[in-house]
Amino acid sequence: MYDLIIVGAGPAGATLARLAGKRLKTLVLDRRDLEGPVAGTGEKLCGGLLAPDAQEMLARFGLGLPAQVLVSPQLFAVRAIDLITRQQRIYPRNYLNVNRQAMDRWLVSLIPPAVERGWGAQFLGFVQSQEGVEVSFSLGGERQKARTRFLAGADGALSRVRAELGLGFTPPSYTAIQEAFAAKAPSPYFSALFDRKITDFYAWTIPKGDRLLVGAALPRGAAGPAQFAELKGKLQGLGFDLDTSLGREGTMLLRPLGGRGLAWGRGRVALIGEAGGWISPSSAEGISYAFRSALALARALEGNPEGALRRYRALTRALVLNIVAKTAKCPPMYQPFLRRLALGTGLLSIQDI
Ligand SMILES: Cc1cc2nc3c(=O)[nH]c(=O)nc-3n(C[C@H](O)[C@H](O)[C@H](O)COP(=O)(O)OP(=O)(O)OC[C@H]3O[C@@H](n4cnc5c(N)ncnc54)[C@H](O)[C@@H]3O)c2cc1C
Repeated sequence: MYDLIIVGAGPAGATLARLAGKRLKTLVLDRRDLEGPVAGTGEKLCGGLLAPDAQEMLARFGLGLPAQVLVSPQLFAVRAIDLITRQQRIYPRNYLNVNRQAMDRWLVSLIPPAVERGWGAQFLGFVQSQEGVEVSFSLGGERQKARTRFLAGADGALSRVRAELGLGFTPPSYTAIQEAFAAKAPSPYFSALFDRKITDFYAWTIPKGDRLLVGAALPRGAAGPAQFAELKGKLQGLGFDLDTSLGREGTMLLRPLGGRGLAWGRGRVALIGEAGGWISPSSAEGISYAFRSALALARALEGNPEGALRRYRALTRALVLNIVAKTAKCPPMYQPFLRRLALGTGLLSIQDI
């Protein structure tokens, strides 16, 4: 019998395993092999920018990033572009630019050796009882079962743990598409692109070594590929070099506007990271939320497992307020009139283009 089984070893699961695995008999499962080489498919799709909130969490954890995780250039500016009016401004903001797959492997390398790992494991389901949780997964082509006093779902936006909980609602979500292009010269900023005709959320470009990532969060059910093609056409019109595509991927992205879609879990099962809906509704920055929700659950698990979920809810109150505050930030960014006013006046910007 384990004290804790964690499904998913992205930033949320790896952080929980690092913190709680020091005291609790822990098993962490992930369908990726996070101690092996980066696979061609099945890796996490991400922009790989560590925002100031994520940097602050690394400081609180007493961690510094190793050089092999970083990708050039490091970024100190956001270029905001309204694709309809073509207004542009540069705003100061610092991001650590990382190779997401290298970062995930570094976070996993910090997990205490006593924590058992199941790489290449596919979580299948669980059954809860008074005594604990029986978790089913497939590993090495065989169906296996393990018992635990507590289960943490850290399996991301498409969380199967959340689905199995049968919470009766689907969190608001978008389809994220990201395409990499060969870049002759790296741009020195992350750009945030706004265009109501393409999405009511936003699109972005991120320089990543000798590549440029172009991504967009598109309303689900809409004509995603057509809107993405329109986005690329508009970027080319602005002078972005998108001649050589290196591949495109897509996934789901949650957007918990006003806290809608947040889920803590039930009984002896808790959800952390994006599985619980923890991601910024204004910028889709999710790594700091993965860290913060994992820290909250690690603290909640310091007492008996029966009360852990209640303590986890209490410890995430500030995070809920943070999500509500980030939602309040949305109108100036996503409401066309207010955005045009902000870009037009140049409030808080350092340069217009
Ligand atoms: C296109 C895109 C760009 C983004 N860019 C940024 C950015 O620049 N900065 C930022 O802060 N945030 C960004 N985000 C958000 C961020 O990537 C997520 O919020 C963050 O990764 C959530 O961490 P997590 O640990 O909760 O989940 P994940 O990172 O999704 O990890 C979940 C883990 O669970 C595993 N898993 C899933 N299902 C199963 C299963 N059934 N069985 C076994 N294992 C399973 C997966 O293999 C994975 O390792 C972006 C998201 C997208 C989609």
